[in-house]
Amino acid sequence: MKVHIIGSGIIGLFSAYYLVKEGHEVEIIEQYDGADGCSFQNAGMITPSHFIPLAAPGMVQKALKWMLDDASPFYVKPRLDLSMLNWSWKFMQAANQRKVDEAMPVLRDFLVASRAMYLNLEASQELDFDFEKKGLLLLCKTEHLLEDEIQVAAKAHDLGMKAEVLDRAGVHKLEPEALPDVLGGVFYPDDSHCNPQKLVKNLKTFLFTKGVQFSYNTKVIDASFNGNKIDKLKLEDAKGEQSEIKVEKVVVAAGSWSEGLAELFKLKMPMQAGKGYSFLQEQEANKNIKHPSILCEAKVAVTPFMDNKVRFAGTMELAGINPIIKKKRVKAIAEAGESFYGQVKVGMPKDADIWYGLRPCSPDGLPYIGKAKHLDNLVVASGHAMLGISLAPISGQMVSELILEKNVSQNIGLFDIHRFEK
Ligand SMILES: Cc1cc2nc3c(=O)[nH]c(=O)nc-3n(C[C@H](O)[C@H](O)[C@H](O)COP(=O)(O)OP(=O)(O)OC[C@H]3O[C@@H](n4cnc5c(N)ncnc54)[C@H](O)[C@@H]3O)c2cc1C
Repeated sequence: MKVHIIGSGIIGLFSAYYLVKEGHEVEIIEQYDGADGCSFQNAGMITPSHFIPLAAPGMVQKALKWMLDDASPFYVKPRLDLSMLNWSWKFMQAANQRKVDEAMPVLRDFLVASRAMYLNLEASQELDFDFEKKGLLLLCKTEHLLEDEIQVAAKAHDLGMKAEVLDRAGVHKLEPEALPDVLGGVFYPDDSHCNPQKLVKNLKTFLFTKGVQFSYNTKVIDASFNGNKIDKLKLEDAKGEQSEIKVEKVVVAAGSWSEGLAELFKLKMPMQAGKGYSFLQEQEANKNIKHPSILCEAKVAVTPFMDNKVRFAGTMELAGINPIIKKKRVKAIAEAGESFYGQVKVGMPKDADIWYGLRPCSPDGLPYIGKAKHLDNLVVASGHAMLGISLAPISGQMVSELILEKNVSQNIGLFDIHRFEK
């Protein structure tokens, strides 16, 4: 069987990985050159600790407050855009305790299963992706955020996960470079991280050696149908030349672009691009950050890699799909780094060293994974927001099971791709 996957981000790649393992022919269609995108210079964290979806109680109030501050960690650009208004309405409806309580154990199981697949991948030695099991440290400077994180840690315990609450001394023992005004934090020992660029690059090389065809600079612009099947995809290359290909099975793994693409297939999947920024800094051998961390007040992720470089990443900016870089927000990330660590040099990066990525965000903070009800040969895997690296292996496995029409091995009912059509 031949499967066409739309999108060469981490979700498309892991979908190809598990389909190839089942002996299928795969072609990945990518609108750009495949050299960059959201899956490349993110923080690389693999976080079972992130079992609370973004749309949680209190987020609407925080978002409204942060809208007035364009250096805040979460920013919604006020604009009269129907897709954004629809998304915001659905976000408000989803941000309640009942929905979060329902989602947490499902997300936990999905995250834990995905992390176990990374362990297997490491053990298989098929790919080098600088996988490190150093846990994740949440660092807090203010009493109220520390209290919030202690409550999340209690929920983690209820869900059977490890979480260690740390006082000031506990934090400084694990992370000697943290400044004395870091009051405390929570340590999640079962979180891990990898080098996402290496993961994407080596996964592509592996897939290429297994015969996966990569069609870069090729955009899917339309589709035609035969009964309840997609019959052909219409493509456009970088020169504007159009062509059509016949398809057997199609996977949409198009990240932030999935809403528009889904419309071609008569699906309604609200999605907003959540722009985030990152940059790398060299560390000195004797003054280095030891543990991947979240600087809670600023919502900045800090990832030390094996090559003695550290990545600072953050902000969630809902301002549409565009390449505009707001330096004020990058500066806020650098300043957060400086305010949490002592000797470590952070500083504002050069323009050329600022990276941005567009996180695919659904209104309820849950991915879209499933088979279309009205089209027999369409599967979707998208909307992973802040968890695309964490959830890529398990999502890829689900795609493979759905394409092969097996009974899916995980509970993915909440990720229903039709859930916003009701
Ligand atoms: C600053 C930042 C930090 C992050 N840190 C982490 C982290 O620590 N841990 C974690 O788990 N996640 C993290 N993420 C989130 C993670 O990066 C994303 O969830 C993930 O990359 C999404 O992968 P994807 O494959 O769904 O989308 P993408 O990587 O965006 O891939 C989708 C691809 O589809 C292509 N495409 C779209 N439309 C078409 C079309 N019509 N035709 C052909 N091709 C098309 C696009 O060009 C794109 O290349 C972070 C994100 C950011 C921005």
